[in-house]
Amino acid sequence: MQEIYPGFYHEFKCIANLCEDSCCKDWDIDIDSETEAFYQTVQGPLGDKMRRLLVTDEYDERVFRCTNGRCPFWNSDMLCDIYIGIGEEHLSNTCANFPRVAVDYGNFREHILSFACPEAARFMLKNTRDAYADFGGERELGLSDESGDYMSFLLKARERTLDFLLNPDEPFAYRLADCLEFNAQVQSLLDNVEPAPLDLDKAESQGCGFIFDMHQSFEIMSGEWRSALSETAEKAQELKIRDDFAADFEKFALYYVYRYYLEAINSGDVLYSIKRIVCAYLVTGKLDALFYEKGYPYPRMRILQRYSKEVEHSYDNTEALNSAFDTDDRFEVENLIALLEEQI
Ligand code: SF4
Repeated sequence: MQEIYPGFYHEFKCIANLCEDSCCKDWDIDIDSETEAFYQTVQGPLGDKMRRLLVTDEYDERVFRCTNGRCPFWNSDMLCDIYIGIGEEHLSNTCANFPRVAVDYGNFREHILSFACPEAARFMLKNTRDAYADFGGERELGLSDESGDYMSFLLKARERTLDFLLNPDEPFAYRLADCLEFNAQVQSLLDNVEPAPLDLDKAESQGCGFIFDMHQSFEIMSGEWRSALSETAEKAQELKIRDDFAADFEKFALYYVYRYYLEAINSGDVLYSIKRIVCAYLVTGKLDALFYEKGYPYPRMRILQRYSKEVEHSYDNTEALNSAFDTDDRFEVENLIALLEEQI
């Protein structure tokens, strides 16, 4: 198994109580079965508290429920009582690994950091595509004959998508439009359909209000995020995404493509990840434009990081987006291209 890491991966270190948006905040904490078995044996008040608070959630996972926005073991010094009481080696897999994510593709495994962690987000905002050089194409990954053409094709399409996404000669909205157009062709090939040119004359932009409506209907964890979203939604149509937003957003998009594009190996759909990036661009870009007017009460990194935490990291929200892409004409490639062109 070939293990692939971005160049900055091993430099990452959790900044614990210095973190501005801890992973001990807003989320239920998954407890894997091995960790739970150990927690059942811990003596004293800590063990009693762990057993009392372990519950089964709606996905049939064992969790510590987040209470008033906090993990119940996150203490007033913003440190973890489990870590202090029984040691780092007894943290659950979720706590021990976050923000490290590994995705297994059979004969290679890609490791990445999650943008939902502010410190990881800072690393990703500082690094360019060069940091992901090992993610490469089939030759670099040494794919064997048994790996199948499908994965080789997706790896090449992923690199080509990034060429469009990072093209410095185009405004960012046009780059996203190019990614959509290219991936519509890729999708036709995956579906064994002759790729046809897009009929852009028939495309109609519906404005970005429906995307904001959708994001406001999502499960939202933070009141701050909810009010920023609602304030932005009211002015979304007239807010202009700032030119300098592209330099940061392209790092988020780079991360997103490496993290999600190859999901198509299971879903058979390369457009899901690209359309989710388009939604993220419009929502965070308009939020950024509003925050610029207000002197950035919440820095740009936090806008992208919070989007990752609120939307990308929610299974339900991601599924809601994918399902709308399947059923709502406003998300058709041509219509999204028209919407992007309107942003220039
Ligand atoms: S979000 Fe990142 S930096 Fe913050 S506490 Fe969690 S792992 Fe550490």
